[in-house]
Formats: sequence, C-alpha cells, structure tokens
Amino acid sequence: MTSRDPIADLRRIAFLLERANEATYRVKAFRSAAATVAALPADELNRRAADGTLAELTGIGDVTARCVTESLAGEEPVYLRRIESTEGTDLKGAAAVLRSALRGDCHCHSDWSDGGSPIEEMALAAVELGHEYMVLTDHSPKLTVAHGLTAARLRKQLDHVAKVNEALPEGFRILTGIEVDILADGSLDQEDELLERLDVVVGSVHSGLRDDSAKMTRRMLAAIENPHLDILGHMTGRKVAASGEGDKGHRRGHTRPPSDFDLTRVVAAVAEHGKAIEINSRPDRLDPPKRMLTVAVEAGCLFSIDTDAHAPGQLDWQRYGCERAALCGVPVDRVVNSWSMDRLLDWTVSHSTPG
Ligand SMILES: [Zn+2]
Ligand SMILES: [Zn+2]
Repeated sequence: MTSRDPIADLRRIAFLLERANEATYRVKAFRSAAATVAALPADELNRRAADGTLAELTGIGDVTARCVTESLAGEEPVYLRRIESTEGTDLKGAAAVLRSALRGDCHCHSDWSDGGSPIEEMALAAVELGHEYMVLTDHSPKLTVAHGLTAARLRKQLDHVAKVNEALPEGFRILTGIEVDILADGSLDQEDELLERLDVVVGSVHSGLRDDSAKMTRRMLAAIENPHLDILGHMTGRKVAASGEGDKGHRRGHTRPPSDFDLTRVVAAVAEHGKAIEINSRPDRLDPPKRMLTVAVEAGCLFSIDTDAHAPGQLDWQRYGCERAALCGVPVDRVVNSWSMDRLLDWTVSHSTPG
C-alpha cells in the first residue's frame, strides 16, 4: 500500500476544524503536529510510527500520532474521515454563482496581529481554495488588544511579504494591505505614506461603537472621503451569537448591537466616492445585516465579500457572505474581489490619487 502524506492530512484536519469554528487549542494540536512531522527525517518518522513512539515527540499527542500512523499506512485517518462526513451542504443558485466568481479575499489576519497562523500558512490555504490573491490586512497600531502593527512593524511586514511572494506558486500573490482603525475624528490610524504604498486599505470602526448617530455618521463619512480608504469593513460593528467556540479576540456568544449612523448618507458617500462596502462573512458578524445591505445595493455601491479570517480554515467562510449577498441581490460585477487582480489594483489606485 502506498502511504499518504501525513502532513497534508494533519493540515487538512486543522483547516476543517477552523472552518467549523472549533476551539483554537484543538486546531493547534494538528498544526503543531504537522510542523513536528515536517521537521522529522523520513526514516525516523517511519521507525517511530512502527514502534508506536510518535507521541513521545513534542507537538504530537495520542490523537495526532494515530492520524500520522494511519496516513503512513495509506489509510485516510479516521479523524479526518469523520469530519469530512459531517461537512456542510453545497451552496445553491445565486450564492454558488457568486462564490465561484470570487478570485480572492480582501480581509484577513496573520499572527503578526491577532491571527493564529503565519502569513505563509494563510497564503497556502488561499492557494488551495483556488484564490488568485489574498490581501493581508493586519490591524493598525491603536488596536493594541489585537497587537496592531506600528509603522515600523508594517514596513518590516512589507519586506517579509515580498519574500514570501517569491516562494509562492505562479499565478498567486499576496497583496499588501491593512485593516486600519477609523479613529474618533474619522482619520485613519496609520502613516499616509504607508497607506499610499499598500495595495488595499480596509478601514473599520473598532471603538466608540455606542456613539450617537450624528457623531458616528461624521466619523464614517470622513473615512469614506479619505482617498486611501478602499473598503469599509464590518460597517455596523455588530456581533451575533455564532456556533462553535470562536478564536482569540472573538469570544463565543459575545453579542453587540449594530452601531447607530445615517445609513442613507453613508451608502450615498460610498457610491459617490467609488468605494466598496465589505460583506463580512464571519458567522459572528454577518455585517451589514440584510436590510442594510439591500439599501446599499439600491444606492449603487460596490462590495467586497471577505472573510476577516484569523486562521487558514476561516478563509473558506466566504460562502456565508455569498449567501447573504445573493439574498440581497448583489450583482456579481459590483463585487470587487470577483475582479482580476489587475482590475482590483487599478480600482484602488483610481481613488487614492487626489484629483
Ligand atoms: Zn482581529
Ligand atoms: Zn475588524
């Protein structure tokens, strides 16, 4: 019998657990085991599998050792088979059309801020999903709870991304970006020079979410008018109860009502300035709510169906955003991440140069 690739099997399990929103520690067990196996010489791996001594290694426990042994024996690990069999149903109709039109994701995080995995892991998962690009959008300095990147760290990240890109398969690219905080006065929490340099800028409100409508509207309008902002992230900031245990920074069962602002004026400004509204796919956000999304469709806005993934498996959450977009009649051609990378980049440049 030919053996399977135990590293691929362990990574696949981790991916599926993340997609199901399982607890971080459970996912980590499989990702750490994959890393341990990858670092092991093949003959030692086979010897330990035969001796039953895999679990003596740091990073491998009884469950992961069993998976590795099964893989090496050429069998699909029982653990993997069990999760695959409880997989969700396929998308239908308009949602499936939207999902298959998406070429990338414009909002995701790595372990440089509050994500759980290195940039390389996120990118490999995006490649496996068939994406052509992934915009890396780690948090900005003021969001200290999420380990937001200072200007210096962001510069370092840009150098790192350039190196990672060289090693990635042809036809896929990590685009540079940020999820920048929209500050109380509507300004953006990063140096202009950096915002100018980044491929894509997602701007989000993470503080003062209970401000009154007039104040919040002013703040959002100022951000939308800022030439650097391309996409307005999770526009209401609401949190809904989601199944699964969530990951760090996204506590399970923690709910929050949408913030209060003048929706008509906000969507009109987004349309006027040619910016996009994010359709945030996270099961604990589902932002904007459908009634607001419908108003934005009628106003002629562009959209970006993004995952806001904080782990590789969460990159497959776009399906949830597509379901909502389909219900609200979002036309495919108004979804910026259904566009080619070149068209997407032309679009972000088109409004970042004044005049
Ligand atoms: Zn985050
Ligand atoms: Zn955010």
